[in-house]
Amino acid sequence: MSLLSVRHLTTEFYSGGRWLEAVSDVSFDLRPGEILGLVGESGCGKSTIAYSVMRLLAKNARISGGEVWLGDVNLTAADDGRLQDLRGSRLSMIFQDPMTALDSLFTVGHQVIETLQEHLDLDAAAARARALELLRQVGIPAAEERLNAYPYQFSGGMSQRIALAIAISCQPQVLIADEPTTALDVTIQAQILHLIRRLMVEEGGTGVLLITHDLGVVAQVCDRVAVMYAGKIVEFGAVESIFSDPLHPYTQALLNSLPSQGIKRGALENIRGRVPSLDDRPTGCRFHPRCPHARDICRVEAPPLLRRAGGQEVACVLYD
Ligand code: SF4
Repeated sequence: MSLLSVRHLTTEFYSGGRWLEAVSDVSFDLRPGEILGLVGESGCGKSTIAYSVMRLLAKNARISGGEVWLGDVNLTAADDGRLQDLRGSRLSMIFQDPMTALDSLFTVGHQVIETLQEHLDLDAAAARARALELLRQVGIPAAEERLNAYPYQFSGGMSQRIALAIAISCQPQVLIADEPTTALDVTIQAQILHLIRRLMVEEGGTGVLLITHDLGVVAQVCDRVAVMYAGKIVEFGAVESIFSDPLHPYTQALLNSLPSQGIKRGALENIRGRVPSLDDRPTGCRFHPRCPHARDICRVEAPPLLRRAGGQEVACVLYD
C-alpha cells in the first residue's frame, strides 16, 4: 500500500528562453509509517520534487510529465480549490526556515487554531484545547502562556517545533520535510528528527518524505532512501543496505564524505567537480564527468534504474 505515489515525474524551469529539466522521470512510493529520505547535493532536484508534489512550484516552473497520487487523488490534475483543501489536512510540509510557515503578525496560538478551524469542524474552545495539546506534544514549555506569544519570541528550534505542530495539527497522511533541521544545531536537530519520527510515524502512521543533503540525518531516522543526482534517482533502497553496501559511485562518494568515515563534512572531497547546472547536463550518465569508473558507454547511454537481488535499485553500467 502506498500513501503517495510519484510516477515518472518530470519538472522543468523556464530560463534563458527555454525549458530546462530539473527533475527527470522520477518514480517512488511512500508507505504508511515510514520515513523516506531524498538525499543528494544542492541542485540535484530534491526540493523541486517536494514543491511539485505540493503543487507549489514557482511561476517559471511546470510539471511536464508524469503524475503524483495522494491515495486516490491525482495531485497533478487537481484544481486550486482541491489542492487548498488537501494542503494542511491530508498533505503537509515543513521547511528549513520555520518562519516560512509562521506569520510574524499573529500569535502562535492564533496560527495553530486558525489551521485547525480551517480544516476541522472545531468550535473555538475545542480548537484552543487542541492547539494547547499540540504545543505540549512538540515540547513547548509553559504551553498555555506561549499560546499568546509571537514567533519572534521563540528560538529557531522552538519555532521549528511550532511549525511542526501546525503541520501535524490535522494528522496528515503525508508530511514533506524539506531540510527541516539544517539551520539548527546538532542537539536540537536530533530532538526535532526524533519528534517527527515519534509523533508522525510511530504514533500516527503517517508517511514522511524527508529531504536532506546529509546522509547522517538519513542514518538517524530514515527507513529507506533515494539518492538523487542531477535530477534523477541513481540509487534506492533500505537505509541499512545502502549504508552497508552502497552500489552507485555517487552514493559511495557521499558516504565517504561523512565525518564518521574520517573525511571532513561538506564538500565531496574524494571526487572532483560539482553537480552540473540545468543548462549543462552531460549526455549519457549525468555523473560521468565526476565518476572514477566512467567508460565510453557512460558518455552516451543513460543507465536505467534497475532492481538487483535483495531489492536495492541502482542506475549504473557497473551492475548491468
Ligand atoms: Fe560511473 Fe558509468 Fe556508473 Fe555513471 S554509469 S556512475 S559514469 S560507471
